[in-house]
Amino acid sequence: MFCHHCGSQIEDKAFVCIHCGVRVPSAQDPIERAIFPVEGHSWLVAVLLCVFVGPLGIHRFYVGKIATGILLLLTGGGFAVIWIIDLIRILLGGFTDKDCRPLVR
Ligand SMILES: [Zn+2]
Repeated sequence: MFCHHCGSQIEDKAFVCIHCGVRVPSAQDPIERAIFPVEGHSWLVAVLLCVFVGPLGIHRFYVGKIATGILLLLTGGGFAVIWIIDLIRILLGGFTDKDCRPLVR
């Protein structure tokens, strides 16, 4: 692996470049993973939230879609229409989180 800042060769597991001190973005980095989870959001959790509390938009809050979550909350799942569409999209795998990443099964 090479440092993106100085171009020096560094250990594959390095968190910080030993040549220039710049932090190396890495999937192995626990801090990086905590902030930007590689795995994404759980498909199963989204299904369960959508089935049981879907009209409250909780599944949308879960994947980070706060604005549309509030919309569903205020309209009873978009008068149940958006709720049903969301449920179908989640089951068929077309539902993504706020960063457009697919849910992880
Ligand atoms: Zn470097």
